[in-house]
Amino acid sequence: MPNRTVLKNGIVLSLDKRVGNFMQADVLIDGAKIGAVGPSLKAEGAEIIDASNMIVMPGFIDTHRHLWEGILRNIGTDIPLEGAQSYLAFVLNTLAPAYRAEDVYAGNKVSTLGMIDAGITTVLDWSHIQAGPEHTDAAIKALQESGLRAVFAYGPVWYEAPKPEHPEWFRRAAKQYFSSKDQLLTLAWAGYGPEFNSIEGNKADWNLARDVNARITVHVGVGTYGKHGKVAQVGKTGLYGPDTTFIHCTTLNDEEIQMIVDSGSTVSLASPVEMMMGHGMVPIQRFLDRGMRPSLSVDVETNVPNDMFTQMRSLISLQHALLFERKLAGEENLPAFLTTRDVLEFATIDGARANGLEARTGSLTPGKEADVILLRTDKPNIFPINDPIGAVVWGMDTSNVDSVFVAGQPLKRNGQLLKVDLDSVKIMAYESRDYVVPKSGVKLPAM
Ligand SMILES: [Zn+2]
Repeated sequence: MPNRTVLKNGIVLSLDKRVGNFMQADVLIDGAKIGAVGPSLKAEGAEIIDASNMIVMPGFIDTHRHLWEGILRNIGTDIPLEGAQSYLAFVLNTLAPAYRAEDVYAGNKVSTLGMIDAGITTVLDWSHIQAGPEHTDAAIKALQESGLRAVFAYGPVWYEAPKPEHPEWFRRAAKQYFSSKDQLLTLAWAGYGPEFNSIEGNKADWNLARDVNARITVHVGVGTYGKHGKVAQVGKTGLYGPDTTFIHCTTLNDEEIQMIVDSGSTVSLASPVEMMMGHGMVPIQRFLDRGMRPSLSVDVETNVPNDMFTQMRSLISLQHALLFERKLAGEENLPAFLTTRDVLEFATIDGARANGLEARTGSLTPGKEADVILLRTDKPNIFPINDPIGAVVWGMDTSNVDSVFVAGQPLKRNGQLLKVDLDSVKIMAYESRDYVVPKSGVKLPAM
């Protein structure tokens, strides 16, 4: 009989309208799955966890992050996306070539730990650091060790022309690590996308991914690169579909935004990065106007924090600012303002959809896998709880994350990460950073 645990008497946000939300209820974790959600559940023999000072909800989902940059945290906070002194120039073209396989492992390791600490249970690792098969093995090893649910998105490096071996290396990884459907890791192809590759190159990418049943994820509308109609050009060949996620979309024209919506693809917005680094205006309203709900993503820890509270607050603030500006200018019949429930769904169930995992995670729905977090409501930053969803979106931060379960397995309990020696990870992170940064010739920012 599988392990059974009851999370007892919590405020439960299932985020599934058929299940409902409760001011006091229980969640039964039955092995790897959600067994039941409701008040006063009977579960004989189950372990009881007192959740009376907790909000119980699905884990957060990040749909695009370059985990290998974990050892480069905050190294580029004053640096824009494009130009001589830029993220593209110094992270992708100067620091990335210095990475050994062990540095990829170190980056992924610290990034996964930060994620668990912040209540993120699923991530898409946009891993464009595949200099060779050993880099792939290192990235996947860290993901496997983390206990997280993850989409490993294999991406060729950006500092050199694509090597002809990549398709073969990608197929090798698919065969070696992703033949089982019954595991936490799934596979995607992280392509250069329409703005950074030829039409033929894009066709080859989409065909390769589909040939091994992998999803496809691409950056588009990337600052000035997004202004040349490439997304429309490539889209007219009929490549786009529900297996594709488009990231940013910030400088796309209306035809391209509409094409993405019409193709049934999904979208990942990284609004803090997009605003601070110069990707272009976050296209939240343009997608909402067309009935598309986005997912959210951290993107780069070189610049922004690693949690989804920041993501939710950034996006809802921006959408409100844009609409209030129109209202103050006298416009009437404005579109709807995003609600806290909307952005909480973007950070959970819509993320699951964009990662191709909505049947498994994203809500506390009986039968789905038990990716559950407990958020403390007895901290001085948050009680009394008057509006649980408002409290999560606007009042809480990572210090409220008490417990994290993925597929029923605890990764964090009582505010502490489990089964990890943080001191040795810290030493590894500094050693790796102290190799990569000098080797690249980049100087750490002056104070
Ligand atoms: Zn990115």
